[in-house]
Amino acid sequence: MNILLTGGLGFIGSHTAVVLSQQGHQVTILDNLCNSQIGVLANLEKITNQKLPFYEADVRDTQMLCKVLSENQIEVVIHFAGLKSVSESAQDPLKYYDNNVGGTIGLIEAMQVQKINKLIFSSSATVYGIPHYLPCDEDHPLAPINTYGKTKLQAEEIMRDLVVSDPAWSIVALRYFNPIGAHESGLLGEVPNGVPNNLMPYVCQVAIGKLPHLNVFGDDYETKDGTGERDYIHVMDLAEGHLAALNYVNHCPGFEVINLGTGIPCSVYEVIAAFEKSARRTIAKKVQPRRSGDLPIYFAKADKAKQLLGWSAKRDLQTMCDSSWKFQENLSK
Ligand code: NAD
Ligand code: UDP
Repeated sequence: MNILLTGGLGFIGSHTAVVLSQQGHQVTILDNLCNSQIGVLANLEKITNQKLPFYEADVRDTQMLCKVLSENQIEVVIHFAGLKSVSESAQDPLKYYDNNVGGTIGLIEAMQVQKINKLIFSSSATVYGIPHYLPCDEDHPLAPINTYGKTKLQAEEIMRDLVVSDPAWSIVALRYFNPIGAHESGLLGEVPNGVPNNLMPYVCQVAIGKLPHLNVFGDDYETKDGTGERDYIHVMDLAEGHLAALNYVNHCPGFEVINLGTGIPCSVYEVIAAFEKSARRTIAKKVQPRRSGDLPIYFAKADKAKQLLGWSAKRDLQTMCDSSWKFQENLSK
C-alpha cells in the first residue's frame, strides 16, 4: 500500500517506516524537522535499501499535504507528527494546541479533499490521567492532567466525531505507553533535544559520561522497590503494532482506541540494572525528591490490541536496554 507517515523521521515514525517498507509497503515521509534530523533519512534508506520519498513540510500546510497525498497516491496516513514534551506544553500551551490539534484538523481536511479515509493516530496513555485502577484498559475514564495529554484527547475526540459524521472513515488511535529501545542496527533511535526529561535517554547520557549521574525521582513510593514503575515498550514492538493497525483499518471502518503496551510494569531500579548489564558499567545515581506530577505506577492492559489487531509486544527489558545502548554507542563514535 501507499502510506504517508507524518513525522516519519522522528523516533517512532522512523522505526515504523522500516517495518512497513520491509513488508513491501511504499512509504512516503513528511516531516518539518522540528524535532528530527535529515540524516535519519539516509539511515532509513541504508536499512531498507530503498529510496523513500521525503517532503520537508509542515502538517499544518494543507495545500502541501494535498499535493503530497495525490502525488504519491496515498491510501493510508499514519499521523506521528506532533510535539511531545509535557513540560513545554505547560509553558507554551498554544504551540501545542496549534501543532497537535490544528495539525490533525489540517491533515484530515487534506485527506477529505483527496478522498482518503484511513488513518492511524499516535495517541498517548497520558489521556487517562491519574489511574482509578490498574492495569489501565481503554474504558478507563479520560482525564489528562497536562496540556500535552489534553491535545491528544482533543485530537481523538475530533476523530470520533468525524467517524460519526461519515462512517466510511476508518481510524485507529494507538495509545502508547513508554516507548524506549532502538533499531537493532544501532542506526535509528531516540535523540533528545537538550537535557533529556525521560528515563532511558537520561541513563544513556550518564553511561557515556555526558551527564554525571541519574537523579532517581523518589524511592519511597509504594511500589516493588520504592521507585516509579512504568510500562516500557520496545519501539520495534510499537512499530509492528502499526503494521497490525494498518491491516485493521483496511478491513474495519469506524473509530477505535487501542493501548500499545506490554502490560508489565518495570521500576527505575530494574531499568538501571538491565542497562548496567547491557553497557557493562555502573550508572551513578542519586535519590532525589519525587518529581512533581509523577505517578507511582502506570501500566497497560494490552488485551484489546491482542484481540483486535492480533498483536502483542515480544521484546523484553534487556533487549530494550541492549538496543538503546548500541544506538547510544554509535551516536557517540
Ligand atoms: P518525535 O519528536 O521523535 O517525532 C515526531 C516527529 O514529528 C519529529 O520528526 C518532528 O520533527 C515532526 N513534527 C512535529 N510537528 C510537526 C509538524 N507540525 N509538521 C511536520 N512534522 C512535525 O516523537 P516520537 O517519540 O516519535 O512520537 C511520535 C508521536 O507519538 C508524537 O505524536 C507523540 O506525541 C506520540 N507519543 C510519543 C510517546 C513517546 O514517549 N515517545 C508516547 C506517546 C505518544
Ligand atoms: N525518572 C527518574 N529520573 C529521570 C527521569 C525519570 O527517576 O531522570 C523516573 C520517573 O520518576 C518515572 C520513570 O523514571 O518514575 C519514567 O519517567 P519518564 O519521564 O521516562 O516517563 P513518564 O513519567 O513520562 O511516564
